[in-house]
Amino acid sequence: MHRIFIDREELYDDGGSLRVFGARAHHMKNVLRMRPGDAFIACDGAYTDYSCTVTSVAKDRLEASVISASQNASKKDYTLTLCQAMPKGAKIDFVLQKATELGADEINIFFSARTDVKYDEAQQQKRLSRFDRIVEEAANQCGAGAISAVRIFKDFDAMLASLDPAAKVIMAYEEEKTTTFKSVLRGNNSTNLVFIVGPEGGFDPKEAQHAKEAGAVLVSLGRRILRTETAGMFLLSCVSYEKQEEGGQE
Ligand code: SAH
Repeated sequence: MHRIFIDREELYDDGGSLRVFGARAHHMKNVLRMRPGDAFIACDGAYTDYSCTVTSVAKDRLEASVISASQNASKKDYTLTLCQAMPKGAKIDFVLQKATELGADEINIFFSARTDVKYDEAQQQKRLSRFDRIVEEAANQCGAGAISAVRIFKDFDAMLASLDPAAKVIMAYEEEKTTTFKSVLRGNNSTNLVFIVGPEGGFDPKEAQHAKEAGAVLVSLGRRILRTETAGMFLLSCVSYEKQEEGGQE
């Protein structure tokens, strides 16, 4: 069944009906080819799913009746943030999509000392709109009840400074040889986890120092060097695995 995200303001009649306009209406009509009588799930991006049936399709809008509301099953009792150094080429699209599937609530993309791609302020708005579309599509596809928030930071320190001081910050550092991710994750009781992953060229030792000073724990992911797009997926997957072990469900 098709899933779409809506804004709460698109609900009318005390939540009994739905009117969608603009790009989403266009997508529902012309891409998903929804017609009166079709059933779909609309999610408000805040973990409420609405079971809907299309009632009318007009030039500028799509209307539906809301049959029932329920809590989205993907809601978890902890938050995950992936801070990913901007990789080369189209790899970032892959990272955004997979991080969404693996439960990242926030994705902070940053430029760092050894990032190959140059930061260009003028490009960022366009980039962000594209990234938002990628995470929304991924969230729809995997049935997430919220869309990951994506932000771009011009350098490592700006990204560090933006982090919640109460979060447990874990930085994957290729030069770390003793502290393992496993020991830190298993010993953790914070419900707000932040992971930091470097670019293809790795981290500058100064960045590792700054992260430490900001309270981050530097960890090893094992004896092999993972590619930047693999490292974040490994970190996020391990959390899902550990959480399932505890509660049967994530
Ligand atoms: N060019 C670097 C490796 C960079 S790998 C080198 O040759 O040393 C890209 C990023 O993935 C790293 O900055 C780190 O965040 C993460 N990473 C990959 N493998 C890792 C490992 N075994 N331990 C910790 N972090 C790792």
